[in-house]
Amino acid sequence: MQYIVALTRHKGKGSVKQAVELSNSFKNLKPSDKVFIKPNIVFWAKVPFPKWGVITTSAVLCEVVELLKDYGVNDITIGEGIVTLKPNDKETANHAFEYLGYSTLAKRYGVKVVNIFDRTFEKVSLDNEIDISLNTDALHSDFLINLPVLKTHAQTVVSLGLKNLKGLLNIPSRKKFHNPDENKNLHYMISRLYTLLPKGATIIDGIYSLEHGPGFDGKPRKSDIIIASCDTLSSDIAGCMALGHKPQNVAYLQYAAKAKGRPIDGSDINVLGNTLDDIASYHEYTFPYTEDGTLPKKLHTMGVKGLSYPKYDMTMCTYCAALNGAILTAITFAWQGKPWDNVEVLTGKKMQPSKGKKYTILFGQCMVNLHKDNPDINAIPIKGCPPDPEEIVKAFHTAGIEVNPVIFENLDIAPSYFMERYKNKPEFDEGFYQIKV
Ligand code: SF4
Repeated sequence: MQYIVALTRHKGKGSVKQAVELSNSFKNLKPSDKVFIKPNIVFWAKVPFPKWGVITTSAVLCEVVELLKDYGVNDITIGEGIVTLKPNDKETANHAFEYLGYSTLAKRYGVKVVNIFDRTFEKVSLDNEIDISLNTDALHSDFLINLPVLKTHAQTVVSLGLKNLKGLLNIPSRKKFHNPDENKNLHYMISRLYTLLPKGATIIDGIYSLEHGPGFDGKPRKSDIIIASCDTLSSDIAGCMALGHKPQNVAYLQYAAKAKGRPIDGSDINVLGNTLDDIASYHEYTFPYTEDGTLPKKLHTMGVKGLSYPKYDMTMCTYCAALNGAILTAITFAWQGKPWDNVEVLTGKKMQPSKGKKYTILFGQCMVNLHKDNPDINAIPIKGCPPDPEEIVKAFHTAGIEVNPVIFENLDIAPSYFMERYKNKPEFDEGFYQIKV
């Protein structure tokens, strides 16, 4: 069997329609269908921050909604579950939906816009073994339109359609996905998730693509690519190649292909429109660390001594991942050239301490639980999930690393500092994330 994927250039309005028609992605869509659209809003802040390559453009979303209306579809829901550090924070999602123009779509076309954390979840079993809870609206829709961004991911190499669906899980299920069990790890879980949800279409938004994803600290490019297919795995294999990576090197794509008895090299995919050779360009995904993986290269180059901060692994989930970047930034500023006192920082759910460290900072409740009774370390715990920023500051100060508390007091506005990079670069156009009223 040959799977069809359309690979087209985005040249403004009409480009999504072209990709959808070329790939025949809406072939199974009926006007009476309940359609659920899942954009990717991996993060949101109420201050200006770089959205390019991070968040699905409103330009693509708006065109999808208009196409659906042209097909005669009336029951359309846009749903997303944005994770924030404050539990019960409803304001951030509302702000995102308003800013991105979803409220305008609601008024103009009668589209429903839902924060999945305000909705119900239904328990489903992954492989008859692991219970997870999925958003009911998406689960019981007739046609699911998946709108990921063309981006890389520090933990999973690429983050496309299969991974975007993780945003339909409730928080405990998302944590379960970052499983320390190697046989049922993050890659494995992602490879199975899409089989539990309704079929539909995947349209990868590559107006902006992203190196060093998935967040606002990555490096976006104006790529003007749209990839569409009614088969999510096929669109992801093509998307992975467009980002310059071999699908063979992405474990969750391998697992998903194997489960379907399909080749992983794209040989059963018929790419229409542009060719992958024309479009593919290499996007770096990983953050550089020293060869032994004990320190980010940047800190090593600065000459930092007396600190071991092993590279994040796949078990670290969103809350800790969001704070990890702030901690590394704070450490960068705290370095005064005097070696620290043999400190190690452990993250995620399975890291083991090195021998002979004076202090071992256990970052996050998972690390605290794993090593709380370890007699071989002088543990400094940072409890909680999410870990409390004040406790982070205290822990590092106890270990003699004078991180600046102001960085942690201003986590809400920190993303705006990254906007400096985009000054006088007109190709990074905020207009793609707005819908004219
Ligand atoms: S403490 Fe960190 S690693 Fe553990 S579940 Fe919470 S966010 Fe994930």
